[in-house]
Amino acid sequence: MTSIIYPTTNFKATEQFFIERGEGVYVFDNKGNKYIEGLAGLWCTSLGYGNRELIDTASEQMSKLAYTHMFGGKTHQVAIDLAEKLTAMLPVEDAKVFFGNSGSDANDTQMKLIHYYFDAIGMPEKRKIIARERSYHGVTIASASLTGLSVNQIGFDLPIDALGVLRTDAPHYYRGAQIGETESDFVSRIVNNLEQLILKEGPDTIAAFIAEPITGASGVIVPPDGYYQKVEDVLNKYNIFFWADEVINGFGRTGQDFGSNTMGIKPDMMTLAKQLSSAYVPISASVIRGDLYEAMVEQSAKMGVFGHGYTYSGHPVACAVALKTLEIYERDNIFERAAQVGEYFQNRLRELEQHPLVGEVRGKGLLAAVELVANKTSRQAFEGGGIGAFAQQACQNNGLIVRAVAGSSIAFCPPLIITKRQIDEMIGKFSKSLNEILDFIVKERLL
Ligand code: PMP
Repeated sequence: MTSIIYPTTNFKATEQFFIERGEGVYVFDNKGNKYIEGLAGLWCTSLGYGNRELIDTASEQMSKLAYTHMFGGKTHQVAIDLAEKLTAMLPVEDAKVFFGNSGSDANDTQMKLIHYYFDAIGMPEKRKIIARERSYHGVTIASASLTGLSVNQIGFDLPIDALGVLRTDAPHYYRGAQIGETESDFVSRIVNNLEQLILKEGPDTIAAFIAEPITGASGVIVPPDGYYQKVEDVLNKYNIFFWADEVINGFGRTGQDFGSNTMGIKPDMMTLAKQLSSAYVPISASVIRGDLYEAMVEQSAKMGVFGHGYTYSGHPVACAVALKTLEIYERDNIFERAAQVGEYFQNRLRELEQHPLVGEVRGKGLLAAVELVANKTSRQAFEGGGIGAFAQQACQNNGLIVRAVAGSSIAFCPPLIITKRQIDEMIGKFSKSLNEILDFIVKERLL
């Protein structure tokens, strides 16, 4: 045992997985075993491990200026350059960016920016946020209130009622459709539920709708065609912002630059982290439309200061590494390559739809999940999270790191630099594991 309190862990689980080093898309444990990193760490190491340019950039920046803060308008060149490069890439109009350290704190920042903006324009009652069932937006007190997973709320007295988080349907047709409902009927029903919620609560009390374009930790849900167009129509009707949480989707993950592009969304606000720096250093970005920021300028003068900022907002080393990451994405056409390999990956994964344990294969680009079911015809789920955890372990034993999410769905999110040959290796290890899981289930009479 160590003195560590482990994050998102069952404290009673004794077995520990000791990762020692990484190289490309592979990591090695302390016994020398090699694993293909099928989840890019926690959906983040886009350029893989051991990238010399990122390592040298961090080292050079540390030598030049290891730290300076940005309070009171203090600034430095790499933060300015990163903000320029980043905002030029984004599908947010005249984007302005606030730097933080993690996806969770960036989502907290967004809530504060929303409050500040609506105070500034004299609509202080426009505060509530609509989030979806089964969504994941982080674990701080505010972002965990946005998250729609009970494991992140029960025991912590969350959600905080004062934050006014409202819940609407998860757009998951496979699990959410009523008997006989077509995809388009399903979309109409859940978007109508959204509109009824807005009318019931009062449109003037609702500021924003937060969504991951394609969800990650909540099960890799790809909404049916037409869903986001209908959602945007409703939001526009009632002057509600679209807040895209692109902490996982951002930077070439879903086949285009951002999940918002892949899904045809025009967001007013966007949260970014993880692949912004290929996870070599922690950094996040809360992005808003330029005109929202302009409206807040007078307010900050009136208040004396915008009273929100982290010690490490705009940390020079984090900014330098993020800037280099964006340069590599551009120079090496990483997103285009990932889109091509992603299409191959999606096709290969769909070959597994015939397997007796596979209920649904879903995803886009290099993001996917395979949902394991007890009965393919009735879509009956396995009870509890046992099979998911068992499958994750079986894959690990075969040299593949993946993650069980939403019970019995196995998530894939490999580094963007993965090759087709390495995709084949990953699918091979996963197929072998699936057969072992099936043997175990049959032997233990779990079906
Ligand atoms: N939003 C989304 C969509 C995420 O996937 C995550 C992390 N998995 C977060 C927010 C929170 O990010 P962090 O863990 O960096 O706080």
